[in-house]
Amino acid sequence: MKTYNIALIKGDGIGPEIIDEAVKVLDAVAARFDFSMRYEEVLMGGSAYDVTGDPLPQETINVSLNADAVLFGAIGGEKWDNLPREKRPESGLLRFRKELGVFANLRPAVVYDELVNASSLKPEVVKGVDLMVVRELIGGIYFGEPKGWEGDKAYNTMVYTKPEVVRIAHTAFKIAMERGKKVCSVDKANVLDVSQMWRETVEEVAKEYPEVSLSHMYVDNAAMQLIRDPKQFDVILTGNIFGDILSDEASMLSGSIGLLPSASVGAKIGVYEPIHGSAPDIAGQGIANPIATIASASMMLRFALGENEAADRIDAAIKHALKDGYRTRDLANYDAKELCSTSEMGDIIANY
Ligand code: ATP
Ligand code: MG
Repeated sequence: MKTYNIALIKGDGIGPEIIDEAVKVLDAVAARFDFSMRYEEVLMGGSAYDVTGDPLPQETINVSLNADAVLFGAIGGEKWDNLPREKRPESGLLRFRKELGVFANLRPAVVYDELVNASSLKPEVVKGVDLMVVRELIGGIYFGEPKGWEGDKAYNTMVYTKPEVVRIAHTAFKIAMERGKKVCSVDKANVLDVSQMWRETVEEVAKEYPEVSLSHMYVDNAAMQLIRDPKQFDVILTGNIFGDILSDEASMLSGSIGLLPSASVGAKIGVYEPIHGSAPDIAGQGIANPIATIASASMMLRFALGENEAADRIDAAIKHALKDGYRTRDLANYDAKELCSTSEMGDIIANY
């Protein structure tokens, strides 16, 4: 029987509560599909700082680099807000992504049929939305040189090298092959040189994926189209800053931040985590929605471990739970038949 080694980082706030539910669901599907999971729990964020004085202990990096994947909850909270920047929980997470070298951030936005009324948009616009933003995560204007602030002038530089574009494009096309075989590459090629190179490079990579249809869109138009007609998209491929903005925009299609998973991949080890934060306002009350984290665990099975059937099973179980009207408090107002706690939702999904 295959055993997968998972570095488990629960983090702060609701992190431990939601990770426990993801583990419950993983163990349940593992038993059904004949593999097993071995977890090694390591610290990051405020809880790591409290114990070791460092929000990212070296042991966390070492264990993660030797695991098959990292499943991560969330970090941060008021308690640590006044620490110097390098001691804060968030700086631990940024350093962590860099240490691992995860260059591709995958953020699916799915609108569940049962929750079309929970969306910020009209039901007829969002019903059936199932898209994936593939965002380049460790290049572009957030990292480009030169950057600086001198007197009354400040600047950042959007830099991409061709190899950086090639590798993220491959990621997007490979994902599209497993989905709807459509990639929309988003840039600002009418204004930016870096975008012209981006576009040309994506065109070249596309030749290796003749089954995938490629389109291009300027980012301003893409922002508009995501609200006007999100169903037109399958995979959106874009750079760091555009992806940051578009993936947050896309997340609002679904109805609750507690539903949305993410994966940061591209290196040997990927990091799977909900898109939401540690939600200190609801921590310890057993009311957090664990679905974003459970769906992140499903992405981990699919992208890191190749256990696609088990991942399909989890995705179907989430849909079942929603269809049967089980709701955590964040979604209590939308066709709820039964309000459930964090762990009840985990049980329900694990047992489908
Ligand atoms: P970060 O800076 O880490 O992204 P944040 O300050 O943006 O964190 P979150 O922690 O994501 O904020 O929380 C934003 C709001 O969403 C809070 O009111 C929180 O309670 C709610 N929230 C976040 N995650 C969940 C969840 N899983 N279930 C229910 N509500 C949630
Ligand atoms: Mg946030």
